[in-house]
Amino acid sequence: MTKGATRKDRHAPPTGRRFVPYPAALDLHTHTLRSDGVLTPEALVSAAGAAGVKLLAITDHDTLAGVRELRGSGAVPAGLEVLPGIELNSVLAEPGNAGEGEVHILGLGVDPDDDALEAALSRQRDSRRVRFEQMVDRLREIGMPVDRALEDQPLTTDDDALGRPRLARALIACGYATSIEDAFVRHLSRGRPAYVPRQGLGPLDAIRAIRAAGGIASLAHFAEAPSHVPFIRELMAAGLNGLEVYYRSYEAPAVAGLREVADELRLVATGGTDYHGDRETYAEAHAELWFPTPAEAEFRATLL
Ligand SMILES: [Zn+2]
Ligand SMILES: [Zn+2]
Repeated sequence: MTKGATRKDRHAPPTGRRFVPYPAALDLHTHTLRSDGVLTPEALVSAAGAAGVKLLAITDHDTLAGVRELRGSGAVPAGLEVLPGIELNSVLAEPGNAGEGEVHILGLGVDPDDDALEAALSRQRDSRRVRFEQMVDRLREIGMPVDRALEDQPLTTDDDALGRPRLARALIACGYATSIEDAFVRHLSRGRPAYVPRQGLGPLDAIRAIRAAGGIASLAHFAEAPSHVPFIRELMAAGLNGLEVYYRSYEAPAVAGLREVADELRLVATGGTDYHGDRETYAEAHAELWFPTPAEAEFRATLL
């Protein structure tokens, strides 16, 4: 960056996805074993602290269990702040609008003791469990039973969110898939034999629940944002106030497109690794996360 760079220059993404000019101090999108990640909350905060993260949002699907566990545990390293977060996979009334008929809403800085939010999360977990069981049944029907492998991946709490990554790992363990991607592409994605559509909150209700619990509601990994501005405006009418711009796996042009939408609509830019732990260590994922310092400051300012 040269002296006198304009605001736009400072936000300009690096030229290659793997080139990150400096380590990100914020990671606002991560998963633990309490939903479909593989690290315990304790292991995640330890790895994030070691990687130099100062503000970490744990955004498990439909549960604040990991965030609650960390409170008063002494496990959070000095210099790291944990932001209570949530990721809600919301179902669109008209599928086809976006990927697989759902959009994901991050709730950042929610009150972990908000009863109304907890009630909404509990309903989401119930419908997630039903869908998971239907997909297990479907796999059995098509001659790929994974029941045995699932028993070998015990749930740690009743609140564990049951997601397709867990099924993908079971498919790999049984020899029906070679990788998480392979499991999704051949078996678990929309239109594939074991896919069952999700039931649950719509995006407007998801956003309202997050805002009512004091959180920033950010539209997650929605690279198609530049061509769906009217849809985003509908979400804003329900309270959407953030857009995930600095998503780890997005290449520079996608980040630039999202940044423009965020600026135009005055949405706060968020970003993160969406770390689950299947493919790499946290340090490796963090090394790919580019979250420019001015954007980090803007996000922190919205928390105040
Ligand atoms: Zn997501
Ligand atoms: Zn996620």
